[in-house]
Amino acid sequence: MALIVQKFGGTSVGTVDRIREVAKKLIKHQQQGDDLVVVLSAMSGETNRLIGLANELNDKPKGRELDVLLSTGEQVTIALLCMALEQQGVQATSYTGSQVRILTDDSHNKARITEIDDKKIRDDLEKGHIVVVAGFQGCDPQGNITTLGRGGSDTTAVALAAALKADECQIYTDVDGVYTTDPRVVSEARRLDTITYEEMLEMASLGAKVLQIRSVEFARNYNVPLRVLSSFKEGGGTLITAEDPTMEQAVISGIAFNRDEAKLTVLGVPDHPGIATQILGPIAKENIEVDMIIQNTGHDSTTDFTFTVHRNDFQAALDILQKTSVLLGAKSVISDNKIAKVSVVGVGMRSHAGIANTMFETLANEDINISMISTSEIKISVVVDELLLDNAVKSLHKAFKLEHA
Ligand code: ADP
Ligand code: ASP
Ligand code: MG
Repeated sequence: MALIVQKFGGTSVGTVDRIREVAKKLIKHQQQGDDLVVVLSAMSGETNRLIGLANELNDKPKGRELDVLLSTGEQVTIALLCMALEQQGVQATSYTGSQVRILTDDSHNKARITEIDDKKIRDDLEKGHIVVVAGFQGCDPQGNITTLGRGGSDTTAVALAAALKADECQIYTDVDGVYTTDPRVVSEARRLDTITYEEMLEMASLGAKVLQIRSVEFARNYNVPLRVLSSFKEGGGTLITAEDPTMEQAVISGIAFNRDEAKLTVLGVPDHPGIATQILGPIAKENIEVDMIIQNTGHDSTTDFTFTVHRNDFQAALDILQKTSVLLGAKSVISDNKIAKVSVVGVGMRSHAGIANTMFETLANEDINISMISTSEIKISVVVDELLLDNAVKSLHKAFKLEHA
């Protein structure tokens, strides 16, 4: 008998019929003797709908009130699933994040889980119940409702699996595993049987939204076996695990991309110590996250400084940079919010030279200009024109022969 935490995403619980299907699936699984803890997302589109309602009334709603609102999406699905289970004769109990006591810090809309009290869940499992927990939410030490950031139900599931020392955490979604790249963009993308935590972490942080980054961090830190599977199709999915030295590693495991980027450059800033903090300090102060940074070699005692931010933060970052530019006596500010980032990821890169060159050559052959480059031990990222992104991803997928095992 195993203890399994299963998470079902928005599409999997998007209609009443689908919730009924999830209930059937759970019952079948429970009959095999496993204990089940289920984490649900809101119905697909619901979180966006709620954000839209909030913005109709207030363009900058307080984080606390937004969290009270957003947490309702998941409250609906957990109650409905328990009703569906009960209708089919199985006992089930639902809990919101605050009821389980998933404690988080108090940073609304992107809270971090700090502690989980699993007593209620264990007691219910003991009684033979299926326990159904609302994903994406918790409460801070003062009892305020918090949410964990978009895609946060994945993190709820993995955190619960870690707290309960579950045998596996299974993420049921609308694709049957983790692919070499988003199968919606490249039809030749291939499902991976396994991928390491490190690679999945890079893929997620570079734009592959199949798992929330923090869920992978949790899984790695607590060694939770994590599996991505389809809600609609049978199959073993993709297992995300620690690196196995006996496993033969592909040089490149996948290609991730992110369309939500924007680039800002300040030209002709005086090249002296402290320039980076003078430019980026005011940006950080407004809580805007900076991704890539490039400072050119100084020339005639001035230099150019470029960085990227999330597209949602573009206007705010531009306003700040324009002020800084005047203060520093820089020449001008230029910007572009129609850029995208594409990255190749693979642990095998550590021991193989020439990957960067293959990447640059492939893009050159497609006449795709690279405007920024950044590398780490297991990834190479480049910034390209957004319009050329799909072509970039497809040609890189082919160049690295990712369609073949
Ligand atoms: P859920 O609502 O179940 O949480 P998400 O939309 O958050 O589902 O994540 C699943 C989606 O992730 C897929 O539909 C797919 O388009 C996208 N995706 C992006 N990159 C990948 C990848 N490398 N492998 C699989 N899916 C990916
Ligand atoms: N419902 C939330 C979202 O859409 C959390 C999740 O689905 O994981 O981001
Ligand atoms: Mg998701």
